[in-house]
Amino acid sequence: DHATGKYTVSFIEGDGIGPEISRSVKDIFQAASVPITWETCDVSPILVDGLTTIPDEAVKSINKNLVGLKGPLATPIGKGHRSLNLTLRKTFNLFANVRPAKSVRGFKTTYDNVDLVLIRENTEGEYSGIEHVVTPGVVQSIKLITRDASERVIRYAFEYAKAIGRPKVIVVHKSTIQRLSDGLFVNVAKELQKEKNFQNIELDTELIDNTVLNVVMNPSKYSDAVFVCPNLYGDILSDLNSGLSAGSLGLTPSANIGDKISIFEAVHGSAPDIAGQNKANPTALLLSSVMMLHHMGLNEYGDKIENAVLKTIAASSKNRTGDLGGTATTTSFTEAVIDNL
Ligand code: NAD
Repeated sequence: DHATGKYTVSFIEGDGIGPEISRSVKDIFQAASVPITWETCDVSPILVDGLTTIPDEAVKSINKNLVGLKGPLATPIGKGHRSLNLTLRKTFNLFANVRPAKSVRGFKTTYDNVDLVLIRENTEGEYSGIEHVVTPGVVQSIKLITRDASERVIRYAFEYAKAIGRPKVIVVHKSTIQRLSDGLFVNVAKELQKEKNFQNIELDTELIDNTVLNVVMNPSKYSDAVFVCPNLYGDILSDLNSGLSAGSLGLTPSANIGDKISIFEAVHGSAPDIAGQNKANPTALLLSSVMMLHHMGLNEYGDKIENAVLKTIAASSKNRTGDLGGTATTTSFTEAVIDNL
């Protein structure tokens, strides 16, 4: 809104711990005077002609605001719904999933110096949902790779590397076995690297088995790189990266990027085991909201909130929530972050 200098962002609070961690984000944004107005969206799934869709109001809100923040959504089991997260990705064509994994100062994990960035193709590969029974006991599952989808995600990876000042893009693949599919993905990367825009970015290609070994042995080897991979490899490698850097799901943020629309979300689920108990760690959703602020060019606010969150976690174990071995509640953690703004 040019008149007020305020931005409107769609907010999907989500299920389980969603409302509690969303409250935390809203309180901290308000305390930091972030110029954002939230538009709350209900994405309870509806079935239209046997297909899962989200309510029209929510689609309209996100199409209008172009930016969304999202809490975890529980996948309803046995009601004929496909995953709501998949539905959102498809509805808004969110083709790239960006997952940074960075050590948190003061919170001890296997390594203190992890700083990995991974971009996962978000729309095809093994997630295309094309499977069939050939004959009883024999099934076939199709991994679909297209030039178009490969190109847009790899192009985004080059642009992202440039934007965050990393000199290298690494394509993670298995083209020795998946010759045609992963081969196409690798070839598209090689073609793109020749573009004038990207010539200053180095391109490496690595076999996934090699990468996982190296990441576990010496993650700092990759601190100057951005990984880009087909869907399933990205899913698995990004969780490995999170485990190494954070050791808790409660810390890992992500972004889903499309041509026009971007939705930012925590990597964890709705944590039904602790929902409604004021125990959830809001950090992952907070760090996702920080990625969102940077995406919107509100860097000053993003840095301020990120620093306050990290300072709070580093300060003492009593500031930390249970998943990090501390005794803090969602609300006491939130208050401590506000004090540190
Ligand atoms: P989960 O991430 O919800 O929980 C796994 C474990 O991590 C639980 O013990 C939980 O208490 C803990 N945990 C997760 N987030 C936490 C936080 N912020 N603070 C403290 N502890 C936290 O995974 P799940 O149990 O496999 O899935 C539960 C539901 O969430 C399912 O319906 C699943 O489909 C859905 N899910 C949604 C998303 C998403 O919306 N992006 C992602 C994964 C799972």
